[in-house]
Parts: sequence; C-alpha cells; structure tokens
Amino acid sequence: MLTMLTTSLNLLTTGGDQFNFSSEVKIAQPVLTLSSEVIILTFLVLLTSSPKIYKSILTIQATHYASIAPPYVSTLLGSFAHEHEECLKADGATEGIVKRRREAFETLLNKLKILFPKSSEIYDEIDEKFSDIRFFDVKKVFFPFREMAKKLSVCVVAEKTDGPYLIDSDGHRILDVSGSYGVNVIGYEGFKSIGNRAHDEVLKDMGPVLGPIHPELRGVLKQLVEVSGLPEISLHMSGTEAVMCATRLARFNTKKKFVASFGSAYHGWYDAVQPGVGNERPVPDIIVLNDMSDASLRVLKARANEIACVMVNPLQAFTPNQPPPSDGTLIGKVRDSGVANAREDFRAWLQKLRKVCSDYKIVLVFDEVYTGFRLAPGGAQEYFGVHADMVCYGKSVAGGMPVGVVCSTPELMRRFDPDHPLRLCYVVGTFSAHPSIVTCMNRFLNEVKKIDFQAKHDLYDIWVGNMNKDLQELGYPVRLAHFASVWLFQYTSPGRYHWLMQYYLRSRMVNLAWVGTGRLSFSLDFDAIHLAALRESILGACEDMDAGGWWWTSGEGHGATIKKQVNKEILRSVAISIGRKVGGVMGFGGGSSAKSI
Ligand code: PMP
Repeated sequence: MLTMLTTSLNLLTTGGDQFNFSSEVKIAQPVLTLSSEVIILTFLVLLTSSPKIYKSILTIQATHYASIAPPYVSTLLGSFAHEHEECLKADGATEGIVKRRREAFETLLNKLKILFPKSSEIYDEIDEKFSDIRFFDVKKVFFPFREMAKKLSVCVVAEKTDGPYLIDSDGHRILDVSGSYGVNVIGYEGFKSIGNRAHDEVLKDMGPVLGPIHPELRGVLKQLVEVSGLPEISLHMSGTEAVMCATRLARFNTKKKFVASFGSAYHGWYDAVQPGVGNERPVPDIIVLNDMSDASLRVLKARANEIACVMVNPLQAFTPNQPPPSDGTLIGKVRDSGVANAREDFRAWLQKLRKVCSDYKIVLVFDEVYTGFRLAPGGAQEYFGVHADMVCYGKSVAGGMPVGVVCSTPELMRRFDPDHPLRLCYVVGTFSAHPSIVTCMNRFLNEVKKIDFQAKHDLYDIWVGNMNKDLQELGYPVRLAHFASVWLFQYTSPGRYHWLMQYYLRSRMVNLAWVGTGRLSFSLDFDAIHLAALRESILGACEDMDAGGWWWTSGEGHGATIKKQVNKEILRSVAISIGRKVGGVMGFGGGSSAKSI
C-alpha cells in the first residue's frame, strides 16, 4: 500500500516537474512562486482525488486475483497434447512402471468399450454436433493429457432411473452422484412422482397457456414467501436469469452502479457477473472480493454509495475463494477443499457481512440456486441463520423443471419509478409462471418440507468418516470431504494421474459430475445400501489405480520431480503460444492450432 501511495505521489510530482512554465517566468513570476503553484496544484489534485485513491487501494487489496486477470492471460498458454508414451512417463516413472501403466490403460480402454458399446456409438454420433458436451469434456483433465483422456470418453446415455441409479442404453445400473448439476435433491423417484402427478391431475388438459395465470400459482407464492421470508416473488426460467433479474433490480432501485461478489463464486453464465477467464468482455461494474476477508468488508463500507448489492453463493462455504476443483486442475498438487471448520467460520462471516450491508444500505443477495433446498428447507438462510434482502432459487425448486426464482421486498422488486413515469426496469420473460412449472413447483415445495435434512447430513458425515478410515488403512492417497450432501475427492500426495480415477469409477458404474471428482452431490434418497454400493465402487477404483501403477512414487523427492515436469510443460505451452502469435503476425497461418483439443 505504501509503495502504491508513494508511486502515485511520485507520478503526480514528477508530472508537475515536467510542466514547462518558462513563458510565465519571463513575464515576472519568480521561480519560488512557480514552485508554490506546482505544490498547491499537486495538493489540490491529491485532495480531490485522495478518497478515490484510497478506495482504489482498498479495492485492489481485497480483490480476488482471478477476476482481474487481463484478457491476454487466457492466451498465455498454447495447447499441445503429449504423445501417449509421454503421458505414461510424465512423472519420470521407471520402464517397469510405464509398462504396467501401458497395459492397465489398454485394459481400461477395452473394459469401457465392452461395457458401453451402445453409449459409445451414440456418443460418437453426437460428439461433433452437440457443442455443450465437448465443453464439459475438456474440463476433465489437464490439457497435455487430453488426447489420452479422449480415448476413454464415454458419455452416459441414460434412458430410465431407479432410485439413485441411472439405467443406461447398455442396460447397466449406474449410481448417480452427479446430482444432475445440483438439481437432484429429493431423488429421481420424488421428481417422477411430482411431475407425473402434476401431469395427471392438472396439466394433461392444458397447453402452454401463458399470460393467464394458473390457480397453482397461489400455493407457489405462499410457500416461497414462507421459505424465503420475503414477501414478493418473480419467476424465471433458469438460475442465470434469476441472477440477471436480482442484479438489475438492485441497481435500478438503489440507483447504484456496482455489484460486488466473492472470489470464484459461480452465479450463472451472464457475462456481467463473470469477469476474468471464461469471459473475454471486460466487465466494468462488478467488484469481485476475497471471501471471508475483513479487507472486503472495508471495501463495502468505503464504497457503499456505489455498490448496489453484494452477492453470496453460500456453496462457497465448501471451497472458499475457489471454483469447484475440477479434475482438470489436478496438475500435480494435492487437492484440498479447505473445508475444515467452514461451517462455523462461514456462519460468522455471513453475520459480519449482514451487519455491514444493513449498516451501509447495501442489498444482500443470496444466490441459493444451488443451496436452496439442499442444506435445509429454508436453504442457506436457515442453515446459517442469516437473512438476505434478496434470494435467488433455481435448479430443484420446480421439481426438476427449468426455473429461476427471485424473492425480495416490494421496494427492491419495483420495476417502475413512482416519481418518473419513463423510468422503468424491463425485467420480464415469456415463460414466467408457466403452468407446468408452477404446478411442479407447488408440489416440490410441499414435498421438501417432509425431509429430515439433519438425519441425511448425519448419515453422510458417518459414511465419509468411515470411508476416510478405510482409505487410510489401505494406504490409498485419497480422502473424501463433504459439506452437507455435497462432497469431493481429495488427494494426500501429488500425482499426475489422479484424473484417471474418474474413468475407473465410470468402469465401476458410478456417474460423476462434469468436473469429475471435484464436486459431487448425494440426492437425499441415498440410503445406507446405496452408500455401501458406492463404497465398493470407490475402493475398487482405488485398487485399479494402485494396480495400474498410477500412484507409483519415486519416494521423498517425487513431489519435486512432478513440479519440475509441470513447469516444463507450462514453459513449452507458453513457447507454443508465442510461436503461434509470431506465426500469425508474420502471416504463416500460425494463429491457431488446427485441431482443437
Ligand atoms: N447460481 C448458482 C449458485 C448456480 O449454482 C448456478 C448453476 N450451477 C447458477 C446460478 C446458474 O443457473 P442455471 O444453470 O440454471 O442458469
């Protein structure tokens, strides 16, 4: 901070020194007066801009690094893929281990081919046509290994469900811990019952009647008011839209420009809430602060007259300041969720944040698209005992149908300015209050009240504890961590092949999320029998990893060897990127890689 201040001061003073006042000097002003003018000018500039400088310094100190990555960062690395043999010895393994890995890889490849012929056929057919699936695929492994991983890719083609099992096109029963992006809270059977009942009782005689409201809307509004503790509701089609609605209304009704959010928290793909890598458009009106940091609270206080709302994704209690740790980030470091004591620490943090927002009149928005109805019937507000001014829901709240919900106060939900007839906030959507959606939502909200969340969380607590004991006793470098029904795999020692775990689990009939082993969710119908089956699959996959030589280590210096290897890959990647840029500038067509991997 001191250095920055000195630099700012230096800039101002040296700037002043360079002004050419020689003409005035000739007219009669003594040099001494001229210097005083410069000093006074500098003083005035400093005086008027110092609050700005002060706020900027506070903001820089509290800003989460990922949100200010300049656009060129994403092109610093150039893609390349290791040859297969290079992949097998990427940690300096001995020839014997490389041979073991070669054979283990072939065995896994053949096993997947034999197990999933129909799914593979469908995957091959849709791969080139469905861009969304390819986007998820590449996130599953550190890029030099993508060609190797691609050989193993088989998507799950599910035709039916039976409890938490997916029945795939090849007739397998696959245990689903993906959580369907977080939608699957009450279990597929629960959703089937809601959807089927809604269809039989209400919807079979209706088409998509939009505009006129459906009587089930009454129950929906009543229940959402109860759940959120907020009196007004707005209905949308996705979590992204709910966030768009909340931020736009907060800005309109507070007449303030900025939205503040916290490090790596996901709030949908609306680019205005997603600065940094992943969005190439600069976003000038969002500040992304470090989560659970007093420095961030200081920024909120200092800039309260500019900040309309502060958005919290309570799932960040699990991995503060980190995105879901996808298998693509298993680069050679140990994955640690940082979850220890998160619950209590996060509760205390939210209480402090609540107080600052109340004292400084900043709207506190809880984005409960993921946590609503997963942590408690009243979502994170109930779980952490903190009330927000605006709450967004989505995912599961319409019994598995597409939805986004915003709840708030009449003052914050206003779309017209009572003082200015032309000032309005255009937030509305064709599918708001779709009859199918409101009917399913009403049924879901009734259903969710019956769940004993604490009993479920206790069950997962015990299971994770027992799993970790077993994993330790068996000497595997794997541990599990969980936050309520959300959980992930961690590793106790660095390795270059931890990402392969997701494919071994697949071969043992487990369906993971799009980030691999980095974020998984239990639907609340998972019982002791399902957990026992999952245990078998995980231990089996660990056995495969071990037998395949993927967890081989050279001993004490293994971590350092891996680090060296990764650094080499990063350097190679930077050199490739520079080469491509230079080639592009010189017209050699080197601007992009021919094959996207
Ligand atoms: N906010 C949060 C907290 C989410 O988890 C998500 C989805 N993962 C969204 C917003 C966006 O929701 P949707 O994908 O329905 O647009």
